[in-house]
Amino acid sequence: MIPFIDLKAQYRALKPQIQARIDRVLEHGQYILGPEVAELETALQAYTGAAHCITVASGTEALLIGLMAIGLKPGDEVITTAFTFAATAEMIVLLGGKPVFVDIEPDTCNLDAGRIEAAITPRTRAIMPVSLFGQCADMEAINAVARRHKLAVIEDAAQSFGADYQGAKSCNTSTIGSASFFPSKPLGCYGDGGAIFTSDAELAQACREIRVHGQSKRYTHTRIGVGGRMDTLQCAIVLAKLERFEWELARRAEAGALYNQLLDEAGIERVQQKPGRNSVYAQYTVFVDQREACQQKLKDAGIPTAVHYPIPLNEQPAYRELAGGGPTPLAAAAAKRVLSLPMSADITPDLQRQVVQALRQATGRR
Ligand SMILES: *Cc1c(COP(=O)(O)O)cnc(C)c1O
Repeated sequence: MIPFIDLKAQYRALKPQIQARIDRVLEHGQYILGPEVAELETALQAYTGAAHCITVASGTEALLIGLMAIGLKPGDEVITTAFTFAATAEMIVLLGGKPVFVDIEPDTCNLDAGRIEAAITPRTRAIMPVSLFGQCADMEAINAVARRHKLAVIEDAAQSFGADYQGAKSCNTSTIGSASFFPSKPLGCYGDGGAIFTSDAELAQACREIRVHGQSKRYTHTRIGVGGRMDTLQCAIVLAKLERFEWELARRAEAGALYNQLLDEAGIERVQQKPGRNSVYAQYTVFVDQREACQQKLKDAGIPTAVHYPIPLNEQPAYRELAGGGPTPLAAAAAKRVLSLPMSADITPDLQRQVVQALRQATGRR
């Protein structure tokens, strides 16, 4: 079986840097909020162009802390997409808020900006688009709606660190950007990690305090917070991985372009990338019918695949009752047909040809 995401090749390429970084942390022994934490925050902040970066325990924690920082209250509504990982809506619900699901653009699977305004009510507090599969939603249109209605925009950028939206970096396209360093994300650590980005100094300060139990200084708890720090070792690992990140992004772009070409030649439907929205291809995703049979045939050919995501959140048992918004038929249709193919910076063109050839056979094309 070929790897779905080749993290071992990445480790082999970066082993000396990663080991040196880990050793340094073990030598200085500042495992919590050690020097690598601030070093990583400075590097990521500079990379995205946002004025502030606050590392946190995970992408989920980044969403939670961001929502706490904007002051989400019970009963507040947040407009988001049902076609995402559960964490997006989960953190809204955890704070007593109500996720209001709006349908997607069928070709990108991103939140459809054109449908947001109709879902706004006096209780709406924020919009939370997800940069799904590594491509931003139409942030300009989303920000314009938000400005008209004085709403915050939180980009769930868990899959899109490194992506561009009209020349701006993902994570720096709205009020708050929220990244994940889960190992399989485009920029990953070796455990859990995440980061919050904002150019609003007050929100940044709020996030910093919420991250450590609402402390404005040691043992002065100014607000309610969480234990949400990213540990020094994980920050050190991301710092080592940053050394090859630009190369990886270029490789991902090449691999994405090759898949596009091969699949278009084969007549296989795929997620589209829009002009001005450069994807980092956290997932490379196609649309197929009879997905289970197709997945089995690919598996038999030694090719692993994954489904992101099989059930939209508004059809999930935990969310059915409390979700707002109308039905989202486009999200429901996408959930039945999406299939993600092996993708990473280290995938070779030969392997990609093999994947598409197997997919041709599995879908009955020669
Ligand atoms: C991975 C992911 C998250 C959660 O990130 P963790 O670091 O695993 O907590 C949230 N939203 C989306 C869209 C994700 O893909």
